[in-house]
Amino acid sequence: MSFASLGLSEHLLSSLDQLGYQTPTPIQQKAVPVVLQGRDVVAAAQTGSGKTAGFGLPILQRISQQPAKGYRPVRALVLVPTRELAAQVAEALNHYAAQLPERLKIEAVFGGVSINPQMMALRGGCDVLVATPGRLLDLLENNATDLRGVDSLVLDEADRMLDLGFADELGWILEELPAKRQTLLFSATFPEAVLKLTEQLLDNPVHIEVKTESTVAELVEQRAIEVDRTNRTMLLRHLIDQENWSRVLVFVASRRGANNVAMKLAKYGIRAVALHGELTQDARTKALAEFKKKKFQVLVATDLASRGIDIAQLPCVVNYDLPRSPADYVHRIGRTARAGESGLAISFIDHESDAHFKLIEKRSRQTLSREQIAGFERSPEPPAELEKPKGPVKGKRKSKKDKLREAAARQQK
Ligand code: AMP
Repeated sequence: MSFASLGLSEHLLSSLDQLGYQTPTPIQQKAVPVVLQGRDVVAAAQTGSGKTAGFGLPILQRISQQPAKGYRPVRALVLVPTRELAAQVAEALNHYAAQLPERLKIEAVFGGVSINPQMMALRGGCDVLVATPGRLLDLLENNATDLRGVDSLVLDEADRMLDLGFADELGWILEELPAKRQTLLFSATFPEAVLKLTEQLLDNPVHIEVKTESTVAELVEQRAIEVDRTNRTMLLRHLIDQENWSRVLVFVASRRGANNVAMKLAKYGIRAVALHGELTQDARTKALAEFKKKKFQVLVATDLASRGIDIAQLPCVVNYDLPRSPADYVHRIGRTARAGESGLAISFIDHESDAHFKLIEKRSRQTLSREQIAGFERSPEPPAELEKPKGPVKGKRKSKKDKLREAAARQQK
């Protein structure tokens, strides 16, 4: 199947040609025609499967068919969960729109940087706005933008946008949008609860490859290495030396952890940088850009970097700490093996995270064999402090029921 057969204009085809996209990916084959028709869509597409073009191309085509004269009301709003993703999606859309006869204005707005340049950029309106919810609300409060003309709303990483963390903000934004509009939800995972929510948001949607189970990217080779918690940094260093990875993205659980691991690797002469939410936006942008440019070999990140971020030729992802949810596991390992490349995802399993990894395996319907690396073998028993019971031992402490029984007995006496 070709892009031309999907009904895209010759201008868009010419942009795709310049980008070297020869054939549409499966999600593009399915999404482009229905989005062009104006239908609502729920699309479960593995991360890295080309979903940005899946919604971006038909939206740009629809807008360019009726170019705005003078003031440009926002016609398409793309909501994303992170600042990095906002910048990335806007950049991709600008590439796709490059050959259109009428220049479209596509802007990204996100928090952590000064609002003034964004307000200036939105003067005179814009055709496509890519935004994180918090900053969009700030801009709406400042009357810097107006969403009453939105024809298409896209929730990228929709499961994250619909979860509780964004619920209030999303609710307020939806109030600013016309009720009659096209709504498109794209995500790699659609937990059952989120699917239920989508019923309220969408009008007779077309479901594309919707799977309620997490789908693990098929081209990613997954390995689970058993190691003691205290040996993880040394093992990471060893693997970086041994395996010749040109680049590796290491996921950790906390901001402090990210700084620590990056600092320790740097001490050993490995070019490593941390990426997490406590850094200034400038530092975040710089860390990611320099990692993409291969100035750094290792990016040590929190889950901030787990969604949507597109890093070409990233051969390896390491879960230094395991992700909290099985869905996050899918998103994290989807950072490698993008656009048809193969990739490797390694998870460190210490005694503390054994049970949690089993849960991740169960949810993603797979069992990985456990490896040990010579010189870093995991000790057979968990460390002593792990065995100490954390709470009171059942049976030793009186239960609430016991106390009530005793009180009743005392009263009877
Ligand atoms: P996405 O899932 O939208 O983040 O896209 C993942 C990567 O695949 C990006 O680097 C895109 O530039 C690339 N890509 C998307 N569609 C195609 C295509 N049809 N042919 C080749 N590369 C593509």
